[in-house]
Amino acid sequence: RQEQYRALRDVPAVTRDGIAVGLQLNAGLIVDLSHLTETGAEGVGLFRTELQFMVAERMPTAAEQQILYEAVFEAVGDLPVTIRTLDIGGDKVLPYMKSLEEENPALGWRAIRIGLDRPGLLRMQLRALLKAARGRPLKIMFPMVATVEEFVQAKRIVEREKAHLTRHGHPLPADCRLGVMVEVPSLLFQIDEIAAEADFLSVGSNDLMQFLFAVDRENRQVANRFDPLSAAALRAFRLIADRAQAAGTPATVCGEIGGRPLEAMALIGLGFRALSMSPASIGPVKAMVLGIDAGAVSAFLEQELARTRDGASLRPALAAFAERH
Ligand code: PEP
Ligand code: MG
Repeated sequence: RQEQYRALRDVPAVTRDGIAVGLQLNAGLIVDLSHLTETGAEGVGLFRTELQFMVAERMPTAAEQQILYEAVFEAVGDLPVTIRTLDIGGDKVLPYMKSLEEENPALGWRAIRIGLDRPGLLRMQLRALLKAARGRPLKIMFPMVATVEEFVQAKRIVEREKAHLTRHGHPLPADCRLGVMVEVPSLLFQIDEIAAEADFLSVGSNDLMQFLFAVDRENRQVANRFDPLSAAALRAFRLIADRAQAAGTPATVCGEIGGRPLEAMALIGLGFRALSMSPASIGPVKAMVLGIDAGAVSAFLEQELARTRDGASLRPALAAFAERH
């Protein structure tokens, strides 16, 4: 199997009916980036910046952050990389940062919420990123956005930082795109507005599933009570793919489900054309992409979603479909 996947490294991920699917990597440390050449991934769809902070002994200074990001850009070379701003709080605590005692940390003071409440921290990160990306394209996305307003505020902070750098004679990135992670279900009900505001969307399915089904992503006791291939979940993914497409806004899935072949097949059937995943998933997902007819998957999903009355998982039906094809 491993040999087979390695042989696919340079084969473009295109379905039998000619749909190209961008397969990208999730990463968080420089060492992860070595998997780029090894897997033949088309870039980094999610760079989790908090990991570099979590392994540090103290809060990295502005200059240290810039060096960290320069190392990231150096390691990816000409390939695209989407950098996510700090997603701390919840389960990801920085040992050197005072954290709150919270009853429900997953629902608490975390990610963009900290960034907007403590703009000093967010500003420092954005400035380091903008400086490090001088002359090259930069894609930044914000985690745990729950309202359009939060994203608009974050964009304003980026604009202010760009103006600051320009005033001080620093070169800017060649092209700076700002995106939103769709991982809080409230965005499903502002999907047209957020798709219009954002340069791109990236579905954080780990958190989106956690919050959609009210199932703690770390709790094994309840993990089996929901399925990302259930009708409810698939309709949520379909809504995002459809509305993003209508707005002309690219949408990627960067949660773990994009790395599982059956789930990835469903996502392609629902209209997603880019998936970001852990390195070990690239081979198996590419093998799946090469074997499917996206149009047929799409038609099958539509039929099953229209037919189901009990909201049960489409997993067995999809698995049987995959087996037949
Ligand atoms: C997600 O929530 O799906 C995601 C990609 O982000 P993280 O796993 O880092 O929360
Ligand atoms: Mg998340």
